[in-house]
Amino acid sequence: MNIYIITGGSRGLGAAFVSATLRDSNKVISIARTRNEELDKLQSKRVGKFIQCQFDISNIKELDALIDQILDDNDIIQASTITLINNAGILHPMKPAESCTAEEFQHILAVNTLAPMALTAAFLRKTAKFGGEKYILNISSGAGNTSYHGWAAYSTTKAALNRFTQSVAFEEEGKDNPAKIISLAPGVVDTDMQEEIRNSNEDNFKGIERFRKLKNYGHLSNPNDVAYKALQWLIDEQCENGGIYDIRNL
Ligand code: NAP
Repeated sequence: MNIYIITGGSRGLGAAFVSATLRDSNKVISIARTRNEELDKLQSKRVGKFIQCQFDISNIKELDALIDQILDDNDIIQASTITLINNAGILHPMKPAESCTAEEFQHILAVNTLAPMALTAAFLRKTAKFGGEKYILNISSGAGNTSYHGWAAYSTTKAALNRFTQSVAFEEEGKDNPAKIISLAPGVVDTDMQEEIRNSNEDNFKGIERFRKLKNYGHLSNPNDVAYKALQWLIDEQCENGGIYDIRNL
């Protein structure tokens, strides 16, 4: 049995991760604010066990208790692999830094960076004695390495996530049973987040036209293809601990 904890499993890429992992005798736990009824129907067609945990991950102080609650000790004993996928993410505030409020900065940092950090820490503590394979997949963005006009907040959260990934991998070195942690930019994926980008305006985001063209020319990636490839890469021998990858280069 493999256990997967997926943040933002209610929609987009996260729902694709749920669909890709909910098979065999796997246990899949999604953490998101809303419940996806379609995924409950999927559960009835698959053998695996699926739990939707409705939770706002910006409540970072409660994430340690959440991991304790959803990662059952009996399941850990029976598991072959345990994987945390820090996928949930937001773009807002999508506007130049000078137009953003302190509260907006605080919220995007909480969801995109602090929650993955706190969940990673809680996950490592909870699985410290687990003898099987441990994986942490942080979903980053090309914006973590590149500046886009109007994405100062978002880019910063993803750049920090990349550095955190490298630092944790460094700390895992030399442990008896280290976790493998990587950051992966998923490319331009056909989800609600892309719709949000296309519906923004040029004053706030100067790169908008490129994203509208990518959609019009059918150049967005399918979330299911991205999820499948990401999961394959995570367990690939060539995938190095602490690696910062872009799926478009794999
Ligand atoms: P999406 O369609 O907007 O879905 C975002 C997911 O995050 C939803 O399931 C949402 O669930 C969850 N979420 C947001 N805020 C949350 C909160 N406070 N607590 C719990 N869950 C929360 O986005 P996506 O395109 O699938 O993006 C997935 C990841 O890929 C993100 O990290 C994003 O930065 C990254 N990414 C996407 C693209 C792209 O082209 N789509 C490109 C680069 C990187 P609820 O609303 O139900 O809470």
